[in-house]
Amino acid sequence: MRVALLNPPTYEDFDGGAGSRYQARREVTSFWYPTWLCYPAAMIRDSRVIDAPAERLNLEQTIPLLKDFGFIAMYTTAASASMDIKTAEAIKAAYKDVNIAFVGPHVSILPEETLKATDAIDFVCRREFDYTLKEYAEGRPLGEIDGVSYRSNGKIVHNKEREYIQDLDGLPFVVDIYKRDLNYLNYTIPYLRDPYVSIYTGRGCPAQCIYCLWPQTFTGNVYRVRGVDRVIEEVKLAIEYFPKAREIFFDDDTFTANKARAREIAKRLKPLGITWSTSSRANVDYETLKVLKDSGLRLFLVGYESGNRQILKNMKKGVTLEQAEEFAKNCKRLNIMTHGAFIMGLPEETPETVEESIRFACKVDPDTIQVSLASPYPGTEMYDLCKEKGYLVEDNLVSERGYQKCSVQYPRMSNEDIYNAVAMFYRRFYFRPGYIAKTVWRMLRDKEEAKRLLREGYEFIQFLIRRREAESGKAC
Ligand code: SF4
Repeated sequence: MRVALLNPPTYEDFDGGAGSRYQARREVTSFWYPTWLCYPAAMIRDSRVIDAPAERLNLEQTIPLLKDFGFIAMYTTAASASMDIKTAEAIKAAYKDVNIAFVGPHVSILPEETLKATDAIDFVCRREFDYTLKEYAEGRPLGEIDGVSYRSNGKIVHNKEREYIQDLDGLPFVVDIYKRDLNYLNYTIPYLRDPYVSIYTGRGCPAQCIYCLWPQTFTGNVYRVRGVDRVIEEVKLAIEYFPKAREIFFDDDTFTANKARAREIAKRLKPLGITWSTSSRANVDYETLKVLKDSGLRLFLVGYESGNRQILKNMKKGVTLEQAEEFAKNCKRLNIMTHGAFIMGLPEETPETVEESIRFACKVDPDTIQVSLASPYPGTEMYDLCKEKGYLVEDNLVSERGYQKCSVQYPRMSNEDIYNAVAMFYRRFYFRPGYIAKTVWRMLRDKEEAKRLLREGYEFIQFLIRRREAESGKAC
C-alpha cells in the first residue's frame, strides 16, 4: 500500500497548513515547510509528500496525483476543516478503496466531531502522528495503535492517548524528504532570506500562553529536544542538498527556551559559516544573544503580543514589558534583526490597550511586524475562556477566501473594532517617518534587502486593498 502525506489544497495562497501555527492567509505570501508530514514520510517506504498549497494545486489538479496510493494522511486545521472534509469526500469518490486519515492539532481535539462529519475519513490521529502513521502503514490493526480514533461496529472508538515522543533523535531527517518530494524554491517567508530551509531542533514549549495552539493541543508544555550532534548533522545535509538556500530557520516553538542548549548549537554552527534565524521569547539575556549573533544569527521571530501589562498577564505570556524592552534594546545593540508578532483581540482588549500596544511596538521598533487577530482555537485555554464568558461571536476563523476573521468581542470592544485595529496598527507602525527613513537607508545599503523589502511592501499594500475589498463584499 503506497502512502501519500497530503497538505490539502485550500484557499488561494493559504499558508495555514502542515507547518504553520497561524492558520490563515497572510499579508505577504508565505509558505512554511510541511515538516510534520515529512517525519512519517521518511519512515514509510515508497511514501510521498504532496504539498498542494505550495505547489499551487487545486483539488482537480491534486486528485489525479493520488491515483496510485492506498492510504492518504491529510493534515487539517481549524480554519480549513470544512474544506478538507469536502476534499476527502472528493478523493473517496474518485478512488473508493482508498483509506483516509486526518492528522493535526484540530482533529486531535475534535476527533469525534471530525469522524461524525463524514464517512470519507476512516480514522483520526490525535497528537503527534509520526509513529501512528508508520504503524498503520506497516499493517498494524487500528485497535492496536495508540492515539487513533475510528469507527467500529457503528460506534466511534478512541484508543488510549499516544505518549509524546521522548527520543526525538530516533526520528529521521526531514531534509531527505524535502529533497525527495518538495521544491525548496517554493518556500518563502517574508522576513527570511529566500530561499530558506527550516527544521525543528525540538518540540513543545514550556510557556503557557493561553491562545497558543501547538503546545496545548499537539506538542505539549515541555521542550523536548534533539541532540546537538543530530541537529548539526541535519544542517550540514541541508547545506549540501539545497545549495541556493540563503538561510536556515530553526522553527521550534521557542528555540531559546533552553538557553544553554541554544548557545551550544550556536557554537557548533559557527564553523559552518551559515546565516540562520529562529523564534524566541523576549526574555533572552545579552550574553546568550551575543553568542548566537557571533555564530550567524540574523533574525528572531519574537512574540511581543501586547503592550498592556494586564493583557500579558491574562494571556500568561510570562514576559514583562521591561524584559521585552531590554531584549529589544540588546538585539539592536548586537544588530540582530527582529520580526515582532502582536495580537489584537486578546481577552479584555479595549481601545486603550490597543493604543498601548501600538505605542509599545513603536518603542521596541522591530524591523518588521505581524499583527494577527486573536484566534480562539478549540483545545486552547483561550477558547474555553471565551466560550465561558460569552466572548465568542463567530465559529468561522477565516473568511471564504482564507483571510482571518475576528471571532471574539469584549465588553469594551466589538469584533468589528478589533478587526479594524489590525490595519490601523500596521499603518501607524509602518508609516512613521523614522521607520520609512530607516528602511530607505537599509535599502540603499543592501540591494538584496531592497528587493526583498520592495516585494514585501508591494504585497502588503495589495493585501490591505484586497482585505478592504473583501470587507465591502466586492471580492468574496
Ligand atoms: S512562548 Fe510562543 S510557542 Fe510558547 S506557548 Fe507562548 S506563544 Fe506558544
